[in-house]
Amino acid sequence: MELSGKLAIVTGGSRGIGRAIAIELGRAGARVIVNYKGNVAAAEEVAQLIGNAIPVAADVSTQAGIDALIAVAEAEGGAELVVNNAGITRDGLLLRMSDEDWDEVISTNLGSTFRMCRAAATHMLSRRKGVIVNLTSVSAIMGNAGQGNYAAAKAGVIAMTRSLAKELGRRQIRVNAVAPGFIDTDMTRTLPTELLEGVQKMIALRRLGKPEEVAPLVRFLLGPGASYITGQTFVVDGGLS
Ligand code: NAP
Repeated sequence: MELSGKLAIVTGGSRGIGRAIAIELGRAGARVIVNYKGNVAAAEEVAQLIGNAIPVAADVSTQAGIDALIAVAEAEGGAELVVNNAGITRDGLLLRMSDEDWDEVISTNLGSTFRMCRAAATHMLSRRKGVIVNLTSVSAIMGNAGQGNYAAAKAGVIAMTRSLAKELGRRQIRVNAVAPGFIDTDMTRTLPTELLEGVQKMIALRRLGKPEEVAPLVRFLLGPGASYITGQTFVVDGGLS
């Protein structure tokens, strides 16, 4: 129960990796704000599973969505733990990638993380405590054909994480990133079977990861065992990279 008494926000906590993180934090004793965009049933199911949780619909790619989410957290006493997990893919090769696909991925995956960090840090700085974990991807480190937009957004998350750690560290606020490889979620289920088979041959453990295999690291980074760790990116990819 290492996170007992702490309030956590998990963006995109209704499905996939965010869902596993929300459940893991709940198990560790945290009260969890389970953010989602549109899937009410999934978010309510997660909240029910956790027990001590509040599902909150808010589009974190917009400032209004972030404001609404932070308002709920402040009404609940303020979030000490923030996990910026919400993310999307709009894959496409360079010559076929539309401006919309570029802009949507950058604003959802990088813009939302920036705006959430800014909004959450405002309160963390005045309380002089807080921990942020940002979800990035091995695509940011290795590159991935068809993911120019996604890899760029996620590389931005890594660079921003390092910079914010240096900026916020003097007030004891820590910021780290977690970079999953291929994890079995709705996001990867849309990929062609042949591509997934090819990918599995490149993974040392020869299989996709499960969301539950990412969540414990996030819990650790948010907890007291990671009190001297900040500005880092941790890869969970079964040996892919
Ligand atoms: P997922 O299964 O597609 O779930 C996405 C979650 O994000 C859902 O809860 C969704 O809410 C929420 N969401 C999407 N856009 C949102 C928005 N604008 N505002 C609020 N919530 C939003 O994705 P995942 O595979 O778990 O991925 C989670 C994170 O890990 C992402 O940042 C992703 O880039 C990263 N990642 C994933 C993998 C992988 O292999 N799966 C690998 C590396 C990194 P609704 O349910 O309401 O739609």
